[in-house]
Formats: sequence, structure tokens, C-alpha cells
Amino acid sequence: MKQLKKYDFLIVGSGFGGSITAMALASLGYRVCVVERGDHPRFAIGESSTPVADMILRDLADEYHLPFLKRLSRYGEWQKHHPEVVCGLKRGFSYYPHQKGELFKSDQNHTNELLVAASVDNENSDTNWLRSDVDHFLVQQLRKMDIDYFDHTTIYGVDKIVDQWNILAERKNKKLSFTAGRIIDATGSSIFAETFLDATSTSKGFQTNSFAVYSHIKEAAHWQQYLNQNDFHTSDYPYNPDHSALHHLIDEGWIWMLRFNNDLLSSGMVIDGSTNNDLHGLNADTIWMEVLKQYPSVQSLFKTALPADTPGGFLKSNRLQRRLNRTHGEGWVALNHTAGFVDPLHSTGIAHTLTGVEKLLKLFRKSGSKAEIQKGLELIEVNYYKELAFIDLLVSSCYKSRGHFQLFSAAVMLYFAASIQYEQGRLNGSTPDSFLCAADDDLFAMVELTHAEISSLREKGFPGKEVADLVERVRARIAPYNSVGLMDDSKRNMYEHTAVVL
Ligand SMILES: Cc1cc2nc3c(=O)[nH]c(=O)nc-3n(C[C@H](O)[C@H](O)[C@H](O)COP(=O)(O)OP(=O)(O)OC[C@H]3O[C@@H](n4cnc5c(N)ncnc54)[C@H](O)[C@@H]3O)c2cc1C
Repeated sequence: MKQLKKYDFLIVGSGFGGSITAMALASLGYRVCVVERGDHPRFAIGESSTPVADMILRDLADEYHLPFLKRLSRYGEWQKHHPEVVCGLKRGFSYYPHQKGELFKSDQNHTNELLVAASVDNENSDTNWLRSDVDHFLVQQLRKMDIDYFDHTTIYGVDKIVDQWNILAERKNKKLSFTAGRIIDATGSSIFAETFLDATSTSKGFQTNSFAVYSHIKEAAHWQQYLNQNDFHTSDYPYNPDHSALHHLIDEGWIWMLRFNNDLLSSGMVIDGSTNNDLHGLNADTIWMEVLKQYPSVQSLFKTALPADTPGGFLKSNRLQRRLNRTHGEGWVALNHTAGFVDPLHSTGIAHTLTGVEKLLKLFRKSGSKAEIQKGLELIEVNYYKELAFIDLLVSSCYKSRGHFQLFSAAVMLYFAASIQYEQGRLNGSTPDSFLCAADDDLFAMVELTHAEISSLREKGFPGKEVADLVERVRARIAPYNSVGLMDDSKRNMYEHTAVVL
């Protein structure tokens, strides 16, 4: 057995979360080792980034001397410096509701369209990350920094002896042993923590109940083209909807379409598990085809499409909502996507992961005592559970209102209002303690109340007058956070620029 050197941190998992954490800790002078069970490049889901994620990347780049992160924070810079790392242009979020068995319908006022631009132009735009490329690129950077990195490595033994972890692993039939002061669980799932770190995971207590089928696809047709060919009026669109996180709302849930520059399309559907239990037992390809065929406009985009070589077909998730009972313990801490997840509707995953990474790095940056670090981790944990609960309410408000597009559009604005508040805080130099300002009691209470009211209107079948009244109340409720003109009827669902900073 080969005895390896002693590390301050062992990072388990080399998604972007683990790699960025490893590089920043190394730049602070810590001895870091990263263990990955697979290798890169590999297929990974979770690709639509946001202005918040971009802001954090820029700050991490400056704080921890990782300049390449900044170059991945705007589409223009990314293309200039790293065109070999595939991404897609993402100008904002677009939403289109579809009725079962019917072609898509809208009107001159864009009644059934909602486009919310984040950036004003392509140069400063946000991106869709081809995760296989991005994660691979980051691992190449950490190798250049001489950080010890073991791929194809399975950890099978984890023992805590006083202040050290003794870790047993196997790589290509060779036994390895690691010693580390702390473990950072960056595996993006609860399994490692449940197996080795005395944590348990649950799906109980979430408002949202959903699962996903997803894949990468070649040669899918473009939605903008469909709209133009069918005489929809798009000349006043703030951007081409194929250059956005494109959401098609359906009875079963919603379908996403995210394009990359190499003509690959990430697409999938998230199914509302509370109302579609019958679908869960089917395999992924069947779910995709059975649901898609009921929405002819969306289906037409996939007529000539082929599965991409990787992953080669549709994959199906379990229920997406999960939460560990603790985010840290004696000598270990989990990154945010390991500790829990709600749903990809608002593309919160990348940004949430990065806010967690940023908080941990701040904590380990100071050479605090064990007790101070423990206190810091406890505070992070308290806020983390608020964040998860807040995202859950934001997402669930949208699921519950998606049968009524005007109400859905108001529910989506709760997310944009929270994002703006968070971005504004960072821009003013006082980064909020919690992602999306979830720990702001007034904001949380406002979203909780609106969620309850939406739930009640759904039970009643969305009565017109009551829906209109609630939309007005949401307009008034988000007003204190709304510095960018959300819910301005004169914009006819076309919002030009909503991110606070580019
Ligand atoms: C269906 C779906 C769609 C999503 N869409 C979006 C989106 O559009 N936008 C967004 O912002 N977020 C999205 N997310 C969330 C996003 O996927 C996560 O935020 C992101 O992947 C977290 O990155 P990570 O590096 O923490 O973990 P991961 O990307 O999960 O990486 C974990 C790494 O750990 C490795 N690993 C796992 N177990 C072990 C082990 N035992 N030992 C060693 N290595 C191990 C894995 O091989 C992997 O390389 C989505 C999530 C899902 C489920």
C-alpha cells in the first residue's frame, strides 16, 4: 500500500464546485487533494448559469488569484479566451405555455410569451455551460497548479482519528491511503455523506415534488424559426429565445431547451411528481416521447433530432428534492449541491453552489480557532436551510400557478425580485448572508404568503377576479425590490434588461 502525504483538505468530487474550492484553498496555501470516482470529460447536467453565478466567479477570480474564472463569467470574454471550452449564449429566461393537443397560441400582445433578458448584449451575456467541457477545463487548471488529483478512485474507508481523517481508496487496482484534516464533500449527491459522514437524507418537507428526464440532442430545430414560420410576431423580442434558458410549460411540468455553440441542445422535462405518478414508473425515453407527442409545437422541433453520442439517450432522475440532516460535522463539510437540491426551474444550482463555495472559502481564509470555524459553519448551515426553503417556495409557486400563465408570470417575478435584491447587495459591496436574500425575513414572508395564496387559487380553479387581484398584490409586494421595471404592463411581457450588473 502506498502511503500518501498528509493533506489539510481532501475534496471528494471534481465537478466545478469541488475543483474551484480546491484551487482557491491551494491558493491560500493549504495542502489539497481531490479525489474523483470517474474522469473528465464526462456528461453532467446543470448547465444554465445566471448573472449571480457570474458575479461570484469574478469575485472568486480576484480573491483567490484564479484569473481564468473571470474569463468564464461573460460570453464575450469566454469566446475570446477559451473558445475551445464549449458554452452557449444565454441572454435571459423565456417561458411559453402550451395546451395539450394544440399548437402553440399567442397574440400581438405576447399574452402567452414571457422573455426576461438579463444582459443588454451578447458580449456581456450570461452562458449555458457545456459541463463536460467546463468541468474538464477546471480540472486541467487544478492540475497545472500541481494540486494532487486522483481520478478513477473509489473511497472505501473513512476513519476519524483525533483530528485527522484516514482515508482508504482504490485506484486502478492499487490501494491508496490519504490523511486529511478536513473532508469537503463535493460529490453532488447524498450517498457519500450517508455512507461515511454520519448524515441522512430526506425528501420530506418540500413543497415541490418533481423528477426529470434529460439528454443532449443533435439537430433539433430552433424555436425562433418555428415562431417566424408560423407568423408569430417576434420583431420586438429583446433577444432570440434560442439564446436563452427556454422553458415550455406543459400540464405535466415543463420542458427546457439550452443551446450550445457546437449545435448540441440540452433538453429535458421536469415532471410534477405530485400529479403525474403514472409516468414515474416508465423508462426515460418513453416518458419523453409520450409527453412530447401531446404538445405538437414543441414536438415539431425534435422531428429531425438525434440523440448526441453522450449520454446517448434520455436519463431519468429520482425525485429531485433532497436535503441532508446536517451540512457539516466534526472535520467535514458538504458543498451546497451535496447538502441538498430543489429543482432546476430557476437555474439556481450553479449560483447556489458558488455562494456556498464562497462562504466556506471566507471561513477557511481566516486562520480561526476550531471553535470559530465551528461557529461559522453553524451560521452557514442555518442560512443554507433557509435558502433551500426559499428556493422551494419560489419554485413551488411557479408549479402551482403554471395552469394560469398570467399568474405564473407573476410568480416568476418573485424569483427575479429576489435575484435583483441579492445582486444589488453584492454590487453595493455588502454581499447578503444568504443566497437570494433568503434570510431577509420580510422577503421570505412575502414569498411564503404569495405561495399560500397561489395554492388556494389553484384549489379554486384560478377564478379570474381573484387571480387579477393577486397579480396586483404581487406587483405591489415586489415594488421595494423592483429596480428594473418588472411587471410593467407597457412592456407586454418583453423585458429588455433586468440584471443589476453585467
Ligand atoms: C436535472 C437537473 C438540471 C439542472 N439544471 C441546472 C441548471 O440549468 N442551472 C443550474 O444552475 N443548475 C442546475 N442544476 C444543478 C446543478 O447540476 C448543480 O448545481 C451542479 O451540478 C453542482 O455542481 P457540483 O460540482 O457541486 O456537483 P456535481 O456536478 O454533481 O459534481 C460532483 C462530482 O463528484 C463526483 N463524485 C460523486 N460521488 C463521488 C465519490 N463517492 N467519490 C469521488 N467522486 C465522486 C462525480 O463524478 C462528479 O464529478 C440541475 C440539476 C439537475 C438534477
